[in-house]
Amino acid sequence: MEKVKILIIGAGVIGLSIAYELSKNYEDVVVIDKEETFGRHTSSRNSEVIHSGIYYPRNSLKAKFCLEGNSLLYQFAKENEIPFRNTKKIIVATKQSEIKEIEKLMGNGKINNVQGIEFLSQEECYKLEPQIRAIAGLYVPSTGIIDSHSLMKKLEYLIEENDAFVIYEMEVIKIECLNKGYRIHFSNGEIYETEILINSAGLNCEKISQKIGIDTIKNKLKIHWCKGEYFKSNSISGISHLIYPVPDPDGIFLGIHLSVNLNNEIRFGPNAYYVNSISYKMDDTYKQEFIKSVNQFMEISNKNIHADDTGIRPKLQGKGDKFRDFYIQEESPNGFPNFINLMGIESPGLTACLSIGKYVKQLCNNLN
Ligand SMILES: Cc1cc2nc3c(=O)[nH]c(=O)nc-3n(C[C@H](O)[C@H](O)[C@H](O)COP(=O)(O)OP(=O)(O)OC[C@H]3O[C@@H](n4cnc5c(N)ncnc54)[C@H](O)[C@@H]3O)c2cc1C
Repeated sequence: MEKVKILIIGAGVIGLSIAYELSKNYEDVVVIDKEETFGRHTSSRNSEVIHSGIYYPRNSLKAKFCLEGNSLLYQFAKENEIPFRNTKKIIVATKQSEIKEIEKLMGNGKINNVQGIEFLSQEECYKLEPQIRAIAGLYVPSTGIIDSHSLMKKLEYLIEENDAFVIYEMEVIKIECLNKGYRIHFSNGEIYETEILINSAGLNCEKISQKIGIDTIKNKLKIHWCKGEYFKSNSISGISHLIYPVPDPDGIFLGIHLSVNLNNEIRFGPNAYYVNSISYKMDDTYKQEFIKSVNQFMEISNKNIHADDTGIRPKLQGKGDKFRDFYIQEESPNGFPNFINLMGIESPGLTACLSIGKYVKQLCNNLN
């Protein structure tokens, strides 16, 4: 049996960011993941957008970590030669009624202290992106894109350079509470004891909470899996900004948007619908929904786009629910001291990762 100071479940961008921060100050830090390498789930199945923080309610963790994370991520990418681009973004209004939504977003962005946002007239939108149809827009200069694989690879390298470990093919199957700390059982028969346990298991965060003994229903911590699909186009070029519609009125996602990746390929998506199982299989039946949605701001047709990839969001917000924030808590109040629980780390989790890492380190420091 191995004994460690801190064990982190999940080598996605969140677990790796937490380990990176902790390994600067703590000895005996271990990240474990059930897959054969890092980022096999949500962290490599997303839009790779560095968000600005414009959407989230004032004082929410999503707003705070997105804003902080945005500048930390740009800085980290520059210092560590991780491919990124400050593409900037335009949120477009395509009908009169959406102009109010754009103004509301602008107001919220100002409250959240998002720098440099500007209202754009129809002419200004056209000047920036002649292929896009818009009657007005919101210019968001702090938005960009990043290569999430290179980010995770670098984090893993830095963690190991700080003498911490990232260990793969270790699936947590059982957790026992000890007088001080936790005993973790893995599917390969290994057992670890840890003083501090951190749950950053992404889509499985609820299962880990349950394994420790938290009643996720009573504590309103049920996770709803919400799938999103992407379509790609090889026939569109010459667009440099990310183009977003006004967000979905139900607040489930940001709307099917156009993103440009670091190879200058155009992608549309993701859409959003709740699912009961984790399957990344692409469902072509949503193609018409994509075409209809994208056609509001630019001309595309059936032959312009083809199926690309999918991802799944671990959402605390279920169908018909109002906004839910990230849940990041040291669980002493629920009777599980030294257990730091991260639930519902959906978008903007990639943007927020370095900021969340610093926050979790602060929670650990408070335990000593
Ligand atoms: C479609 C989509 C688009 C998105 N777009 C953006 C975006 O543009 N910008 C942005 O900022 N955010 C975006 N996000 C959100 C972002 O991708 C996530 O918030 C982030 O990747 C979450 O990282 P994570 O480490 O928590 O989860 P994951 O990457 O899922 O990592 C969790 C890890 O835990 C491991 N694990 C699970 N159970 C166990 C177990 N029992 N034992 C051991 N290991 C286990 C898994 O193998 C996995 O590697 C998007 C998400 C989706 C789904």
